[in-house]
Amino acid sequence: MSDAEAEPRRALVIMAHPDDIEFTCGGTVAQLSDDGWHVTFCLVTSGDKGTKDPALGPADLGALREAEQEAAASELGIHRCIFLRVPDGHVEDGSEFRGQIVQVLRDVRPELMITWDGYRGFNHRDHRTVGIAALDAVFPLSRNANSYAHQVAAGSQPVSVNTVLLAGSNEPNYFVDVSAQLDRRIDALLRHASQVQAANRDEMVERMRNRAAQAARAGRLPWTEGFRRLTFGNISQPRRAEALKAEAKARRKAENKEQAHSNG
Ligand SMILES: [Zn+2]
Repeated sequence: MSDAEAEPRRALVIMAHPDDIEFTCGGTVAQLSDDGWHVTFCLVTSGDKGTKDPALGPADLGALREAEQEAAASELGIHRCIFLRVPDGHVEDGSEFRGQIVQVLRDVRPELMITWDGYRGFNHRDHRTVGIAALDAVFPLSRNANSYAHQVAAGSQPVSVNTVLLAGSNEPNYFVDVSAQLDRRIDALLRHASQVQAANRDEMVERMRNRAAQAARAGRLPWTEGFRRLTFGNISQPRRAEALKAEAKARRKAENKEQAHSNG
């Protein structure tokens, strides 16, 4: 994922709760940042229900978790977090919510988006809902000027995201080597102090080692983060219709040649 262009390549990570990113793809975003990408985080909720402490109300918990997320992002080399502040546990896949994501896509203009795999079966409903809505927002909503036309009238341009990486997928087909990012990944996870169960850093390291060993035993690559990768066409590739036309032309040419041969 390295690149030498002057203009930094842009990625957007859109997840349901603070800490989703660090648990699923922290190493990948740290690697992108090291490779010179400009990465933006978008958190749909501020995780305001995630506590067992009855004294911690949603407003205070939400504020605490946003601060934890910003500190974690900084550990990973990311300096922009957008908080949509939908109430935790109440993300609904409606036209208005999809429009919010479309606006973020049109503002950030990423070529790569990372989000939850919303199709991986039962899971936190916010994870499912965010994954499905974000994918719909990428294709086709954000690329059509007639979708959420009021945004375009107000100055936003349609945007085409080429690549989507779905995190937490049951069917990963793309693996990122994050062995160089382990320390930062752990530091970032530990910033979510209100959520992380590990007593200390050593315990967290131990846990990750165990998980890597488990992956190796199961025949998977240790120290990788896996995704389901989807691509939505690259403007530098010939369009499918043109490719089909070229194929038909080549076929006709070959047939004519054969005809001429048998006539001769
Ligand atoms: Zn979550």
